[in-house]
Order: sequence, then structure tokens, then C-alpha cells
Amino acid sequence: MPLATSSPSISEDAALAALLKKLKVYPVGSDLRERDLQAVYDYLMTKDPKLEHWFCEEAPSTLVPEAAAFSLRLHAYKGVQANQWKAALAKVVSKCSSCAQGMEDRLLDCQVTWAFPAWSSHVLELITLLSWYSYMGAFPAHNVRDWLDCCHRWDTNDILQHLAQLDSHPQSTLSDLPPPVSFRIFYNTVNLSNEGILAALVDRLPKDRIHNWPPIIPAGLLLLLLHRLPLVRRWARNQIMGLPPLTQALFAKSYPTHYNLVTNILVEAIISSAGRASSAVSPLPSSHPLLENLPTTLLWNQLLSLLPILPPHIYSLPSTSGVSLFHVVVNNLRGSESSAFAFPLAAHPHHPD
Ligand SMILES: [Zn+2]
Repeated sequence: MPLATSSPSISEDAALAALLKKLKVYPVGSDLRERDLQAVYDYLMTKDPKLEHWFCEEAPSTLVPEAAAFSLRLHAYKGVQANQWKAALAKVVSKCSSCAQGMEDRLLDCQVTWAFPAWSSHVLELITLLSWYSYMGAFPAHNVRDWLDCCHRWDTNDILQHLAQLDSHPQSTLSDLPPPVSFRIFYNTVNLSNEGILAALVDRLPKDRIHNWPPIIPAGLLLLLLHRLPLVRRWARNQIMGLPPLTQALFAKSYPTHYNLVTNILVEAIISSAGRASSAVSPLPSSHPLLENLPTTLLWNQLLSLLPILPPHIYSLPSTSGVSLFHVVVNNLRGSESSAFAFPLAAHPHHPD
């Protein structure tokens, strides 16, 4: 019986596994050896030559998602091979929705460290919690921030390129995009900050649900429940109802998730509008562009749509300003005639298929 090590692919896997383990335990910054980067690049490009799965369970080996996570640093690189890698990544995350989610999860895990100041001073703790993030451990914080901006910019531009392809068909909607691409629009709320994408959302709003997304409510849809256009709000609500309910686990990891971040933004928006005249607009300088200058009546009315979608434990979590959603609702009820808030607090939504 031949020895396992006689297989070239097994020895190749073992060599790469050893390299990635070393780079995780002893992270390397800008002095990364070119041959090590080349080894990861070659592995990724040859292990899955059809460019189908880099980040999901269907990847041709468990090392592929690990190599793909490390390769994300190539967003900060220029040159022929870096461009080839970016083109390959674009194929993967436009073909497989789970891979699209896998890539976005890695970027968003990193993003929340900047959004929650308490965590930006605990980067070492975060590195132990987010295994892949260890690869970036040797870079100063400002370099990681710049790199993350490169990643988001690439993501947004890639989505805009897909949207541009719809221009030749004026009647097309976001449903005509590959599902992994439309999923990325709504899953990573940074993409919903781009003016071109926001314009396409209004101009090319789907008439019905988009199908073939991963079974998870993208966090951006929560923001869209507060969109100023009723048609967008209605579509977002309908899309949400076709997906499984948000679980507490999405909000209750040992580090902040982007679901915590989006909920926090929404709660802060509602808190900042509490007690204002109904005709006033809510000033939210540090919030998401989608929530800027919204009428307070809209914020309060749409809270009815939002509450049943959130796991109940979120009601009592303090926001960054120290006030919980539960307190805001109760205090508002004391001073208003509205009794409708009792319903969503007590009820859970029905999610039809
Ligand atoms: Zn995949």
C-alpha cells in the first residue's frame, strides 16, 4: 500500500497547512516573503481551477477557505497576479451565495472592531476569537483600516460593474443580478452606503422576492425597513418574511457582530428621535446614510415592523448610549397615545415559505 505522502496533492496540502499555521502564529506584515504569498496564491488558483468555492463548505479542501482568508490581503496589492486574484475572487463571489457570505463575514468581523470603540483597544482578544484575523496581526491598526477600506471599495466596485450590465435592459431589476451579488448588496451594509447602489435599489427594486440567497436575513434589510420610500420598505419586509427568523446566536457571540452593529445604529436612531416633535427630522451624524434626516414619525412607525424580527433579548440590551430599546418604547408609551407597541413586543412573526 503506497504511503499517503507519495501523493503530490497531499504533500502540497501539508506544506500549505504548515505555512498558514506559521503565518497565523507568527503574523507577518509588509515584510511577508514573496514566495510565501506565491505559495498561497498558487494553491488557491490551482486547487479550484473552475473558481467555484473558496469560502464555503463545498470548497475542494478545508485549506481552501483558510488560504482564501489569508489571500484577502492581496486587496492591498497591485500587479498582474494581484489583478488575476481579484478577477478570480470576483468569479467566486458572483457564483456561490455561501462563498459571498463567507467573504463578507470576514470583512464584517473586522469592520465591527472599528465601529465599537471598546473593541478597537482589544485587538489581541479579537485575534484569538477570530482565527483568520490573526494573519493581519503584525500590521499597525491604521494599515488594517486602510486594507479594509480597499476590500470594501473592491466589493462595491464589483457590485457596480454587475449593476452596469443591467443598463442595456431598462426593465431589469436587482432580481436579474446573480443572487450572490444581490445578497452582497444587502448583507454588507457598507455597500448600502454607496450612492450608485442606493440609486439602483430604488430604480431597479425587485417586484417580488429575490431567491437563492443563503438562509439568513441580511442585516441591510433591517435598515431598509426604515427607508423613506414605502415601496422599498414593503419589498424589504416581504423579502425578510421569506427568510428564517434572526436567531439570538447572530447577536450573542463573544465579540460584536455586524448584526449588533446594525441593531445598535437602528436603536440609536430611534432613541435620538424620542421626545422630538413628530415633524422633526432626526440628526444622525455618525449613523448610516440610509437613516439620515428621517422624519421621527417614520422611525417610530417602522419600529413596529422591526421589533418582531429581532430576537427578544435585543430589547433589553443597552445601546452605545446606555439606553435599551425596551426603555425607549416604555417611556414613549407613557407620553403618547399609541398602544400598538404592545403587539410586536408580545408577538412573534410568522414566516411563510
Ligand atoms: Zn461556495
